[in-house]
Amino acid sequence: MRILYWFKRDLRLKDNRGLIEAFKKSQEVIPVFIFDHELLRELDGPASRTGFLLDCLRRLNHQLEKKGNRLYGFYGQPEKVLDRVISESKAEAVYTNRSYSWKGERTQKKVEALCRKKGVAFKDFNDSLLVPPGRIEARKVYSPFFRLWRMALAREDISVWPEPGRLQMPKLNWPSLVGTFKLIPHQPNRHWKPDYAERRLKQYDFKSYDEGRNQLDVDGTSRLSVAIRFGLISIRQVLARVRKSLAMDSQFVKELAWREFWYHIRHHFPWTENLEFQENRRGLRWLNREEDIRALEEARTGYPIIDAAIRQLKEEGWMHNRARLVVASFVTKDLLIDWRIGEKLFKKYLLDYDEVVNTGNWQWSASVGADPRPLRLFNPQLQAEKHDPECLYVKKYVPELKKASCQQIQALELPNYHRPIVDHRSAAIRVRQIYFGQ
Ligand SMILES: Cc1cc2nc3c(=O)[nH]c(=O)nc-3n(C[C@H](O)[C@H](O)[C@H](O)COP(=O)(O)OP(=O)(O)OC[C@H]3O[C@@H](n4cnc5c(N)ncnc54)[C@H](O)[C@@H]3O)c2cc1C
Repeated sequence: MRILYWFKRDLRLKDNRGLIEAFKKSQEVIPVFIFDHELLRELDGPASRTGFLLDCLRRLNHQLEKKGNRLYGFYGQPEKVLDRVISESKAEAVYTNRSYSWKGERTQKKVEALCRKKGVAFKDFNDSLLVPPGRIEARKVYSPFFRLWRMALAREDISVWPEPGRLQMPKLNWPSLVGTFKLIPHQPNRHWKPDYAERRLKQYDFKSYDEGRNQLDVDGTSRLSVAIRFGLISIRQVLARVRKSLAMDSQFVKELAWREFWYHIRHHFPWTENLEFQENRRGLRWLNREEDIRALEEARTGYPIIDAAIRQLKEEGWMHNRARLVVASFVTKDLLIDWRIGEKLFKKYLLDYDEVVNTGNWQWSASVGADPRPLRLFNPQLQAEKHDPECLYVKKYVPELKKASCQQIQALELPNYHRPIVDHRSAAIRVRQIYFGQ
């Protein structure tokens, strides 16, 4: 049986559930990756993110070549590309890892329909989540979800599967991966290289997580989100490594469960793609002032902590979680910018951008999502004092403030810097009026 294996967000061999299942079934497996032209167009972000994706594919191809196989890359609409490549390769089945995102699921449905029409088997596997979302009954709040999730986890196979051995593949006259890359606008990514994933997983001190995770001025979090997003390592590899030093109710495991919580919400409440989870928070009177949106994206809000975070995002394609929380609160509560606009801004620049996780977090930060607290509001100055007490984070990303004292920065007494575009105290009163209709 000849099988086409369709890679998506699982760019590795080790513990790749769908790929290993394909090799268990057949020795003739043809690995393909499709650049979905719609997704690429929609992302509208810096070309260095695409550069990172190409690096991941190069690495994957190299790993496959060492085993006597190779990766084929195509560009277009997945169902159209697969229609052609199934016919040309005479494949009898398509195997892939299941997509749980809104867009991924829609594309996958089209491919399933195509396979039915062509009389080709279609098989998908859970790879990206520790507990697939349908296994847990609907919960609207994280804590009860976490209890159920832990119980469900005990029933899952979370072992790490070894990569397949030597592989044969049929000879095909298809363009090389490098040929396809030429069609894709991209730039090299200076900040992230795919082989960081295994290294970071091995070297990161998980025991120090609780202490450092909220500090903006230290390298305290795992930074594994990019590796998880592209599937450079499997989520089971992460858990296996964590369990060597931490308990199952540790904060780090809880963070992994947060990721799964957003997939749970997406599964049981699928309308949250564009609509607020909380019914009584739909149709809020957002201000969406063009000048605020521009100042935010250009990192000149006059709040050094916000501007530093946006610069980190644009320069590195990544932002510290604490900074994401502060920025998202500032955007939605201080500036009254619709969370959908914030979500799009992160989508444009984040390397770890994940449609489901980003939407869930933006709704949560805007107090319109799956969160029982009626209003969360961060004071950006207090947050800066607490999580960047010596202004090291601010000075790193906003070097024009290098000479200012930390006291001046925290007090916003910066005559040569942008004036704050909003006064937090008045904004705090205003947001209560809008949210509670006072
Ligand atoms: C407004 C907003 C938008 C976000 N958008 C994304 C996104 O598009 N993609 C993304 O992966 N994360 C997103 N997050 C979650 C979180 O900020 C990142 O996962 C984290 O900063 C990544 O850094 P890390 O790997 O060092 O995390 P660590 O703190 O080391 O956590 C380990 C892992 O747990 C998961 N995790 C941690 N926090 C969260 C969380 N709040 N929600 C879901 N999973 C979490 C991630 O997989 C992360 O890699 C967002 C958070 C906010 C507040």
